[in-house]
Amino acid sequence: MNIVSGTFSALYAAIRQLPKKRMTMRYPDVQTEMQSYYTYDPKLGVAKPGYKGRHILWLDKCTGCQLCSIACENISQAIEMVKVNRIQPNNKKSIFPQVDYAKCVFCGFCVDACPFYALGMTEDFNLVSTSKKDLVYAPEKLAIPPKVIRPKVEFKIEKDMAFHD
Ligand code: SF4
Ligand code: SF4
Repeated sequence: MNIVSGTFSALYAAIRQLPKKRMTMRYPDVQTEMQSYYTYDPKLGVAKPGYKGRHILWLDKCTGCQLCSIACENISQAIEMVKVNRIQPNNKKSIFPQVDYAKCVFCGFCVDACPFYALGMTEDFNLVSTSKKDLVYAPEKLAIPPKVIRPKVEFKIEKDMAFHD
């Protein structure tokens, strides 16, 4: 193929796409609808699908067993167990996980490792910050459910491809 026919062929391919519907979203103006959290049921040994954004920590369920932190040790060492001024009979040492999102790779292994249904992952994945310090989420911060409001985007499958309006 010479340069002239190559150029025409590329132009023709581009022009053919013009009347077609756009398949991508204008992120971050448009985002997918809020989904459920990613969680893991240790009794059933089954993961429930959901976004794997920043974590949610259910403080009252956390026993401070450190299994989440141990699971992360060989991945990114993003979890540090820290002391929190909180009286909780099922967590005698009052230690809870703190996550550093400058290190976390959002694999979810810590969630899978928690035997007490204390840890999940949320749809909050917009964690951009100019300060590394702000990426360290203390247990109390992890315990706050994220407020993520996104415009609803409807998907329909046409010819094995996902389009949106
Ligand atoms: S999601 Fe993965 S990398 Fe992030 S804290 Fe959990 S185990 Fe560590
Ligand atoms: S979040 Fe779960 S695994 Fe981590 S310390 Fe608490 S109870 Fe243990």
